Amino acid sequence: MKKILNYIDGEFTAPIQNNWIENFNPSKGEVYGHIPNSTKEDVEKAYQAAQKAFPSWSTTTLNQRHTILSKIALLIEENLENLAQAEALDNGKPLSLAKTIDIPRASSNFKFFANAITQFSSEAHESIGKDAINITLRESIGVVACISPWNLPLYLFTWKIAPAIAAGNCVVAKPSEITPMTAFLLGEICNKAGLPNGVLNIVHGLGSITGQAIIEHPNIKAISFTGGTSTGAHIARIAAPLFKKLSLELGGKNPNIIFSDCDYDEMLETTVRSSFANQGQICLCGSRIFVEATIFEKFKKDFVKKVSALKVGDPFCSKTDIGALVSKTHLEKVKSYIDSTGEETGKLLFGGKKVNVENNENGYFLQPTIIEVYDNKCRLNQEEIFGPLVTIMPFNTEEEVVQMANDVKYGLSATLWTNNLNRTMKLTKQLHSGIVWVNTWLLRDLRTPFGGKKASGVGREGGNEALRFFTEPKNICIKY
Ligand code: NDP
Repeated sequence: MKKILNYIDGEFTAPIQNNWIENFNPSKGEVYGHIPNSTKEDVEKAYQAAQKAFPSWSTTTLNQRHTILSKIALLIEENLENLAQAEALDNGKPLSLAKTIDIPRASSNFKFFANAITQFSSEAHESIGKDAINITLRESIGVVACISPWNLPLYLFTWKIAPAIAAGNCVVAKPSEITPMTAFLLGEICNKAGLPNGVLNIVHGLGSITGQAIIEHPNIKAISFTGGTSTGAHIARIAAPLFKKLSLELGGKNPNIIFSDCDYDEMLETTVRSSFANQGQICLCGSRIFVEATIFEKFKKDFVKKVSALKVGDPFCSKTDIGALVSKTHLEKVKSYIDSTGEETGKLLFGGKKVNVENNENGYFLQPTIIEVYDNKCRLNQEEIFGPLVTIMPFNTEEEVVQMANDVKYGLSATLWTNNLNRTMKLTKQLHSGIVWVNTWLLRDLRTPFGGKKASGVGREGGNEALRFFTEPKNICIKY
């Protein structure tokens, strides 16, 4: 059995109360390790370590920070195989995906912010005619929190930690209790890279206990959180009277809008990915597919054919396209949406059943599922399901599809497939989402702002937006 420890002040330690939680392997459906069930005392210990490290870390030169972050990036790259194996085991995702997406991106996050911090500038405003100049500094905040979900464990964990420490803060971080393994391995990498003790502290445990202690801590001044919308709302309620700075990256129910004038083959390939990559457990997946009526029947046939060829299987098998869902609870949640779909709501076009994978009989495997729905107001189109389930619906006009795309409480991302420039410009402006992809999906440039509107969150991460979040402006006005 593997045992994960907290990483506090550069050391690996057991939780103070010596309580542990079981950690499951989703493809086997069995316990394979234990993680700390950390309490308020462990969070306090992590806070103290961070607080102690702050004066020194916040005054290290940008060059020193650049060197250490670059070293972390390099060590992640060198440990790619080991980290990818750990991610696939812990999360159930195909090893091939962890190797090509999750772990390389974790390394890129550190590489990107190692460089970005050296380019991040202060501002000056000359008050002309008043003989004064204003210098606006961007100061590090102090001790900040980074809380991340289970779907892209190391990828999202490092997406928060890298800018936080690059900007001179010290961090108390909590990965999801469901996928703690790669966060644990990151501690060792940080030590090897020479990150000073206490700059990053990783506390494992339940959201309701460990997470709660972090968000309630009066001296943790900013929280960067990625997770569900209801958890985000809870955090906002706790944080507001404590005047904490918040960045909330929350759920999505993203439209994928397909016009008949698109490049059909490319659209089809990409739509299979945007529907089912990572078992559909990506906040950016296009879970509501709207297809122009003139190509609806053709699309339905071609899409079902492609999706039925996807191989659901052991994450460690190189032929696997779709691995296990992350937990039994999550599998049951997704399945309950499928099972409760009545004839009046929609028609199951493909999938819907659990899959029995050889040698992994107790694993949480589910077929990729396509349901044709009749009304955008149905539960399947309004609630975030976050699994391998997409709905499809025809539309006739631009107005109709924009109305349906926007008629949902979320506003994270949207995808548009068309080769008509006027339509592109018109619709991208009309769609209520933080991100719009045209003729592509999940093409990321780390300099761009990332985040959602409406119930998909508050604030933006990425590039300078993240460095702005993790710093506070101070204006100094000098009269001369
Ligand atoms: P949760 O909201 O359940 O959990 C996210 C993190 O918050 C976990 O580490 C969790 O710990 C912790 N947490 C739970 N309760 C509290 C609390 N009271 N105080 C502090 N922390 C707490 O989300 P999931 O892990 O289920 O992730 C899936 C969700 O994440 C989906 O809604 C998805 O859309 C969203 N997401 C959004 C993205 C975006 O960029 N907008 C990207 C990726 C995912 P624990 O796991 O131990 O309970």
